[in-house]
Amino acid sequence: MEYTSARGPRSGIGELVEAGALVKLMKKAGEIHGHFCPFLAVGVKAGWRAVTELRVNSAGMEDVVAIVETNSCFSDGIQVVTGCTFGNNSLIYRDYGKTAVTVARRNGKGVRVSVKLKGEFLNEREPETMRLFQAVVAERKGSESDRTRLMEEWKRVGFDMLDIPDAELFEVRKVKADIPSYARIFTSVKCSVCGEDVMEPRVRMKSGKPVCIPCSGREYYQLSGDGMCLRRDNG
Ligand SMILES: [Zn+2]
Ligand SMILES: [Zn+2]
Repeated sequence: MEYTSARGPRSGIGELVEAGALVKLMKKAGEIHGHFCPFLAVGVKAGWRAVTELRVNSAGMEDVVAIVETNSCFSDGIQVVTGCTFGNNSLIYRDYGKTAVTVARRNGKGVRVSVKLKGEFLNEREPETMRLFQAVVAERKGSESDRTRLMEEWKRVGFDMLDIPDAELFEVRKVKADIPSYARIFTSVKCSVCGEDVMEPRVRMKSGKPVCIPCSGREYYQLSGDGMCLRRDNG
């Protein structure tokens, strides 16, 4: 298989991707996610499936983008495996509340992987663990040892999920993705109230003077045209 290969600091992860080393990729994902859990595993698998279908391996220079439709644990698995992150401007977040990702090349040629597991999937597969989860996480009850036990169980369930066949987990289809243009580089303007530098398109005017958004007191966040998008380039 011929990949657009990752070079530089991501080459190690790139090799794991090419080798299909899902367990090792999951361990890498745990390093940034902070714990092992089922949807981190699903994100690792979905990201791997997408980059493998597309034969890309991002070096984090916006040659490949990932569009995630949820900000759950899933998205951290995606970031590690695809190399498309919040910080390198290749992660686009569309807040649709769906466990799905589209990985696409710059020309829009992409693959969308959506998770088709039913909500009750984990309840049926892991009733004990889900009862523990309910008590510790949802109801904030449970002792310190319940918490420790949950983290161990969650880890086991997560790694187990790596073995579920893709056909049971995913709907995969080729798509033509709508990719925003490259992030522009903007000049900075000093806020007249707090004195901090602000990226020019985020500056607001107050009494004829430039201010940052918090100092403007007007708005916290401005939606882009396509939903909440971490990477906005429309000024
Ligand atoms: Zn998690
Ligand atoms: Zn300010």
